[in-house]
Amino acid sequence: MAQLQIGVVGGGVAGLSAAFRLAKHNHQVTVFDPDPANGASHAAAGMLAPASEANFSEIPLLRLMQHSNELWTDFAAEIEAVSGMPVGLRREGTIVIGFEPNDARDLERLSEFQRELGIEVIRLTRHQLKELEPETGGPFPYAAMIDSDVQLDNRKLMDSLLAALDSLGTRFVRQSVSAVNERGDGGYEIVLDDGAKVQPDAVLVAPGSYVGTISGLPKAVTRSIRPVKGQIIRVQASPELLRHVIRAKVYGKTLYMVPRSDGEIVIGATQEEVGFDTTAKVRPIAEMLSQAALLLPGIGEADFIEHMVRFRPGSFDNSPIVGRYEDSNLFLCLGHFRHGILLSAALSKYVAMAIETGKQPLEIEQFSATRLEAS
Ligand SMILES: Cc1cc2nc3c(=O)[nH]c(=O)nc-3n(C[C@H](O)[C@H](O)[C@H](O)COP(=O)(O)OP(=O)(O)OC[C@H]3O[C@@H](n4cnc5c(N)ncnc54)[C@H](O)[C@@H]3O)c2cc1C
Repeated sequence: MAQLQIGVVGGGVAGLSAAFRLAKHNHQVTVFDPDPANGASHAAAGMLAPASEANFSEIPLLRLMQHSNELWTDFAAEIEAVSGMPVGLRREGTIVIGFEPNDARDLERLSEFQRELGIEVIRLTRHQLKELEPETGGPFPYAAMIDSDVQLDNRKLMDSLLAALDSLGTRFVRQSVSAVNERGDGGYEIVLDDGAKVQPDAVLVAPGSYVGTISGLPKAVTRSIRPVKGQIIRVQASPELLRHVIRAKVYGKTLYMVPRSDGEIVIGATQEEVGFDTTAKVRPIAEMLSQAALLLPGIGEADFIEHMVRFRPGSFDNSPIVGRYEDSNLFLCLGHFRHGILLSAALSKYVAMAIETGKQPLEIEQFSATRLEAS
């Protein structure tokens, strides 16, 4: 296959995972980003949780998430083999808890839907929950195990991707892209903040929530993504406090706790339609922490490490927009929304194929940029 020069705009998980696949195929990849690996991909909890996220959502997206979850084992190993750095993939499964009877009823209904889709949801007795997680409170009216929902450490993943790309010879240009302009021959070129122009064979646009700030792109592209604010917390506990990912409903609100191997616990997250508002409000932080303490009382003794705000890139229909834009050299990897870490194993594979072949792979047919025309 001919070697291509590919410019990747945005060094989040979308851009870097695609850059990795392309660099491994010996293409000459340059990533443009003033601050790579510090967007939503830095904030995320790292859950690979298609089943828990099923939530009566669209079935094609759920199937893509499940497929991507399966791809992660090999993809993680591939990245680790090049970088020599682990991505923290853990397959202990996810425990689902309903705190009070209404929460339990909601989760019962969800589990029926999940089972109809072929997802295994195993009810846990109080004793079984205590065996798996001795520090949980309760008793809770609902507890279940979903083995297929797992996690990786997204910060380790991003470090590992950066190191892997470095050893594959990928260039990093630490500048903002101010425009992606049509050249006149149907092709697109990249314009940097300092005015420099770059004309690669293919331009992959993956700046997450910020695509609307880049001029020159077709309007249908720039208006397709909105930022969805997420506030998320990290605390440091002892590694014995929690071993499994816990997803819970507490008085109707959804909460998750994701334990890392060193005892860090990621607690999240809000989902707010407030544009690029970076303020930290006391109420959602207090709510998340008090709900976490209801589920896991010992968390009150953990050290508070971090509160972070980042923006999920949500598309007009909340599904990714991936592939070639019309017949041009412009390719999109956008709209990863709440599942960007999970989806990146699959979306990077298929967007790399689209760049190499010029065709939309069947696996992402439903997520192509042709949807933009109808939006
Ligand atoms: C609180 C929270 C929790 C989450 N938890 C999970 C989870 O558990 N599991 C999961 O699968 N997903 C999760 N997500 C979603 C996931 O984080 C996102 O879908 C994913 O990170 C999006 O990746 P991205 O590369 O598109 O965007 P980002 O990671 O935001 O990266 C975009 C990059 O583009 C760069 N950029 C922006 N503008 C320009 C420009 N003009 N020129 C050059 N570069 C530019 C930025 O600097 C940034 O590095 C979570 C998100 C949040 C906010």
